[in-house]
Amino acid sequence: MWDEEGRRFLDLTSGLGVLHLGHCHPLVEEAMAGQIREAVHVCSHLMLSRPSLELACRLNAIVPVAGPCRTFFCNSGAEAVENAIKIARYATGRRGVLAFHGAYHGRTLLCTTLTGRTRPYRKGFGPLATDVFHVPYAYCYRCAWGLPPTGCGFRCLEAMERLFLTECPAEELAAVVFEPVQGEGGVVVPPDEFLVRLQKLCRDNGILLVADEVQTGLGRTGVPFATQHSGVEPDLVVLGKALGGGLPLASVTGRAPIMESVHPGGLGSTFGGNPVACAAGLRLLHLLWDEDLHTRAREIEMRLLSRARPWHEAFPCVGEVRGRGAMVGIELVKQRETREPAPAEAQRVVRRCFEKGLILLWGGLHRNVIRLLPPLNIPWEELEMGLDLLEESLKELDSTPPGGVRSRNSPSEG
Ligand code: PMP
Repeated sequence: MWDEEGRRFLDLTSGLGVLHLGHCHPLVEEAMAGQIREAVHVCSHLMLSRPSLELACRLNAIVPVAGPCRTFFCNSGAEAVENAIKIARYATGRRGVLAFHGAYHGRTLLCTTLTGRTRPYRKGFGPLATDVFHVPYAYCYRCAWGLPPTGCGFRCLEAMERLFLTECPAEELAAVVFEPVQGEGGVVVPPDEFLVRLQKLCRDNGILLVADEVQTGLGRTGVPFATQHSGVEPDLVVLGKALGGGLPLASVTGRAPIMESVHPGGLGSTFGGNPVACAAGLRLLHLLWDEDLHTRAREIEMRLLSRARPWHEAFPCVGEVRGRGAMVGIELVKQRETREPAPAEAQRVVRRCFEKGLILLWGGLHRNVIRLLPPLNIPWEELEMGLDLLEESLKELDSTPPGGVRSRNSPSEG
């Protein structure tokens, strides 16, 4: 990217996890341009457009959901999560929804409620929605019980069983919404077993499993859908971000009997399934699958981790380096032993990178995680260039004056 003064930036966030094939991919833009000449808008309440029909069929075929599926289109990740909750409530006749500490699901009122972080997301926006509950996620580096990841017996899931006893009986819970890897929460990768056990708890109690794959979906983590790492099969899958090839588009895809339980007209959207966005999304899916970019995301993971894991030894501020596919987080701490979070330092590194022409993100429950979401087709020399700049900025951390003011244009949480 270039700014108005002609300064060049390397965007290792893919426009916040949207541009899986980088900025201005010619073949994705060609698909958009072709559709613009045909029809810019067709409201799906009046008539279906071919691109939206084809994309829906494609999603129905590829999501890791058992049995025949149906897809509903809307405009943003938050709107899709909201619709998934409406569908789950309708299909089960239950009201309760469970989400996790550290989760991020969007900024509408229900999604703000589902989001498991007070700052900057929930604070000051109450009253929030009712019938939403939270329990700890498997954030093993900061286990709520201080237990090591092996042999902890998944105490975090016991919290869910306690919830059934204390606040919401299992038979009143419609859905559990989860990110298979928490993104904004600081690239938290749970053990696969955690999701397997979560699925069992849901199945045993008739609770629907809603996978929010807005950030992790479509190859980002090295497989088409991140739930596939654990073999878990959700009832509903929510997609957004990359789905429209850079244009606003989001979807809920789920088991046909659940999706079709809602009465006609109960769900809808004026712009949902916009033909230009769907044409771009279809092209994106062809390119991702044809060029086997999921596999490439795994190679990105290998390169990122093999370069960044030694930073744990080299820089005392690096507490943990973790990730899956092209989704990596570097958690900064004041001291490795105490694991005290270092949010100001994380912000300073991201700002320093920006000054050097590298765009990164920061996030995390404690706002101390530097996040990388590079495009899946990034040339290796660009990835290395970005990592050089990040390494340089980590080195400089100690010499930077604390508490500098963030420049207006520098990246932030999102
Ligand atoms: N869910 C997840 C997991 C996300 O990462 C995001 C966006 N960062 C959303 C939902 C919300 O998407 P949108 O900003 O398109 O509403």
